[in-house]
Amino acid sequence: MTMRRAALQPVIIGAIASALVITIFYFFLTEDINKEIVSVEKNKGNLAGSMARQAGQHVQTAIAALEVAADMPQMQSTEYSDLISEENKGVPVNVDMEKRNVQKAVLLAVPSLESIGFLMPNGDVYSVEPSILQQNLPVVNFAYRDYYIEVINRQNTYVSAAFQSTATYNYTTVIAVPVFKDGSLAGLLVGALNLGVINEQLRMLDLDENEVAVIVDGDWNEIASSDRPVGDTTPRRSFSYLQDIMGDTAMSARIDASGKDTYITRAPVDLGSNRWSVLLIQPYSDAFSDVYLHQSEALSIIAITVGIMSVSGYILFRSMLGNVRLTDKLEDVNEELKSLNQNLKGDKARLESLSSELKSKNEHLEYLAKELDLKATQLKEMDAAKEEFAAMITHELKTPLVPIVGYTELLVDGTLGELTPVQKEKIQLMHDSAVSLSGLISDLLDIRKLEMGKMKFDVLETPVKDIVGQAVGSFLPLAKSKQIALTYTVAPDGGGSDLMLSCDPKRIQQVLNNLISNSLKFVSEKTGVVQVTARRNSNSVEFAVKDNGIGIPEEKQAKLFSKFYQVDTSLRREVGGSGLGLAISKGIVEAHGGKIWFESTPRVGSTFYFSIPMVNNAVGGAEA
Ligand code: ADP
Repeated sequence: MTMRRAALQPVIIGAIASALVITIFYFFLTEDINKEIVSVEKNKGNLAGSMARQAGQHVQTAIAALEVAADMPQMQSTEYSDLISEENKGVPVNVDMEKRNVQKAVLLAVPSLESIGFLMPNGDVYSVEPSILQQNLPVVNFAYRDYYIEVINRQNTYVSAAFQSTATYNYTTVIAVPVFKDGSLAGLLVGALNLGVINEQLRMLDLDENEVAVIVDGDWNEIASSDRPVGDTTPRRSFSYLQDIMGDTAMSARIDASGKDTYITRAPVDLGSNRWSVLLIQPYSDAFSDVYLHQSEALSIIAITVGIMSVSGYILFRSMLGNVRLTDKLEDVNEELKSLNQNLKGDKARLESLSSELKSKNEHLEYLAKELDLKATQLKEMDAAKEEFAAMITHELKTPLVPIVGYTELLVDGTLGELTPVQKEKIQLMHDSAVSLSGLISDLLDIRKLEMGKMKFDVLETPVKDIVGQAVGSFLPLAKSKQIALTYTVAPDGGGSDLMLSCDPKRIQQVLNNLISNSLKFVSEKTGVVQVTARRNSNSVEFAVKDNGIGIPEEKQAKLFSKFYQVDTSLRREVGGSGLGLAISKGIVEAHGGKIWFESTPRVGSTFYFSIPMVNNAVGGAEA
């Protein structure tokens, strides 16, 4: 139990540490997000501020131009005021051209002013430029307008609310400047400022999607807006609901605008008398979308971190719990081991006695092993002696056959006196048997020498055609007697020269003899064909003995080169042989560094090949 509590401790510490890390991370994250929010707010403030400055400059330029004009003497004279009539909407348009020229000059200098009028202190129109507008005026007295009332009250410049011009129908605001002559009011200079220009400036702002820039006048009525098309004369909107929320001072606000979470940035346009505001209006989530993005990214990181920490905590906990269980188990095992140990002590004594017994047995075994070694050496020595004996016997067996073969030959050919036909036949039989026995003994001797690596090779550079010619020549009488066609061809080497081979010619001839002799045995009399060929094949000489004999069954082909192997003993006994010829041939060819093989189809024929490298060091030992 105590172990279990001990295991829990690091887990609890881990959990507290993770919570701490996450809290710190969250603290920095909040800090960061707040900074981003402040920076978004600042950027919006800057944009609204720069628009406010532009709009302000636009109005201030017009104000300055009108105020300069108001100071000019032409403006201060009202000498034709008697000519003001309802019909002319002021003095006739061709009267007081001095004043009218100043009005025209200001219009030229400030293109956004679409008209400039001079009002008498009682509000009657004196002159309007362009004069065509004067003629179209609906009334002659404008004392009812807010700008007239404000200027009379304040005796100072006033910028009016925005309204639709009665003359041009454009949305305009009127800048009204008092004109004084010798300290008393001589009239009002009123310029109608076309707000279309400001509207265009708003439309050119670099705004976000869903963001609208609006300029409102002091009563929070729309003057211009970025979402209002050029020349649009639909009624201006009122933003007075913002007045209640933002008052005169708030520069930004997050409000619920008819159910929409909206962010408003405000910058004042300072015009002295009438305070306009630039407003940037945007859905709150759009304005702070980047911040939201970062926030959600960071929250995902926290979530993932918490996830990883919990999983690794869980794994840690499990593995510790596992360790506790393991420790419990280990204690049990330890107990068991203790008792086992006790038992083992008893066993040990028994084992010790067994061990000494084994020791003595071992000693006996060692003695036996030595005996065996001795016997093995003796056996080896006996083996060698046997080999020697076998070699000697084979050799000695051959020697007595020499006179038998020689004398039987002399007897048969009549050199030692004529014999009766019966005698001749029997002696011939003796001769043939002695010859075949001698051949068998020679074969046995050869195979032994080859096996012991003791066959001696007399290597000579020899024309291949000599080797083949002699081998074939020795079988011609036999072939002729059986009417078998035995032929040979040796292809000349490059340039027509004789094909030469460095080898032991007698031994190669022996190989050929074996193969030709086999072929002659297995072809039919009269129809048999045996062809012997030799040719150069890159750096070897390839020999072939081809016959149209009985062939070799496929299942017997694998063992053909084994000692004493004959394909079908019953049949082949008739044709004689020891089953050593191919084994000897293989040994000779391989001792020359070459190889031997064959192709055979039963009832069609066989071809035996062997190839000897032109450069070879036929390996041999001393003749046994
Ligand atoms: P053997 O002295 O009995 O001919 P070999 O080693 O020369 O011994 O040949 C082994 C056996 O392979 C032969 O007994 C024969 O059955 C078979 N053989 C060899 N050459 C031919 C051949 N040209 N056609 C058919 N059988 C062959």
